[in-house]
Amino acid sequence: MATAPVLPTDLTRDAALALDAADPLGAFIDEFQLPRGVVYLNGNSLGPSPKAAIARVTEAAAEEWSTGLVTSWNRAGWFQLPYRLGDRIAGLIGAEAGEVVMTDSTSLNLFRIVAAALAMRPDRRVIVMEGSNFPTDNYVIQGLIETLGRGHVIRFAEKNEIASAIGPDVAAVVLTQVHYKSSHILDMAAITAQAHAVGALAVWDLCHSAGAIPVDLNGCNVDFAVGCTYKYLNGGPGSPAFQFAAKRHHEAMTQPLTGWWGHGAPFAFERDYAPASGIGRMLTGTQPILSMVAAEAGLDIAERAGVGAAREKSRALGKLFQDLVEARLGDAGFTLGGPAQTDDRGGHIALEHVNGYPIMKALISRGVIGDFRAPTTMRFGFSPLYLRYADIWDAVDILVATMETGLWRDPAFAAVEAVT
Ligand SMILES: *Cc1c(COP(=O)(O)O)cnc(C)c1O
Repeated sequence: MATAPVLPTDLTRDAALALDAADPLGAFIDEFQLPRGVVYLNGNSLGPSPKAAIARVTEAAAEEWSTGLVTSWNRAGWFQLPYRLGDRIAGLIGAEAGEVVMTDSTSLNLFRIVAAALAMRPDRRVIVMEGSNFPTDNYVIQGLIETLGRGHVIRFAEKNEIASAIGPDVAAVVLTQVHYKSSHILDMAAITAQAHAVGALAVWDLCHSAGAIPVDLNGCNVDFAVGCTYKYLNGGPGSPAFQFAAKRHHEAMTQPLTGWWGHGAPFAFERDYAPASGIGRMLTGTQPILSMVAAEAGLDIAERAGVGAAREKSRALGKLFQDLVEARLGDAGFTLGGPAQTDDRGGHIALEHVNGYPIMKALISRGVIGDFRAPTTMRFGFSPLYLRYADIWDAVDILVATMETGLWRDPAFAAVEAVT
């Protein structure tokens, strides 16, 4: 390890410890099951496990499933879970009860939601999307267009080009609020208003927003939204995602994956489909109950912490990281891959480095877990509910050591694994 760095007083480890001592969210770390000796900076990809999630899954499996058997659909409230958990998510994203259901994956939900939006604008053929978005969003819409076979086209536009891409031929604008790589935040209110001004619908992906930044879907007059719960909402690997549809669209909206859970009377077992009256028509089939009960524990923590307080701490953690990297690694070849101002970015920071992949692997070997997105982006997520300021200090200290010792040059860190 290098000799103690000479740093401005607000960037010392003692200063970080003082921030921890005064942190109103400091106690939440005890609610997570985290391995010792790890600084987990990848909650933007998969949040860690809440202890309550493990307890609830155990209870649901050992009692509700094992003892209650099929009666648990009623007695343990399994059948209502998509609605009940949807209502809890609604409270975190500026929606009303009855406007959100928890179900399936973001990819599937996007298929249904965008299909619903396009059906409401039958005379228009253009969908505006950001080409650099997380690819599944592009892939899903490309597949949807192919399936519809009605000549829809995607007009790709990057952040500064979006406004000029929204014209009167646009059926829907489908964008992700916080960019998965750069962390850049798009202006949801302004872009939604631009879409509405030309008669288009606004669909937002909240995968990197939900639980990370305050979201006000109804305040922004958003039409539809999707998002996942396994990132900042700590719902568990593959935990179900959510769909939002503004109440004003519930009567008119239709979607192609019509299954019995979206039927108005699923237990009437009628021959023909007739949609449920509200957001329920966006459901398709039976849901993964054990994953849902796990996810509820994450939602519970997010509600108690409050998204506003979480956002403030996340910004402060990210700023500390940014300042420390600048002060201690200014000449090590790192550049910021996204916005420099905390106002303009979500819960993670993108650091670019030509050797980003082996550097990240070396960091992970030393217990600092972030991730890597080709070709050069190292992502560091600042989930505020289980990270301490001192953890950020330690992570940068380890990054400094990794660079100074040349640890990252070890050939073991060059081999590319399937999941980066
Ligand atoms: C994480 C993420 C997804 C994930 O989609 P899955 O269907 O859960 O695999 C989709 N879109 C964006 C923008 C994401 O960040």
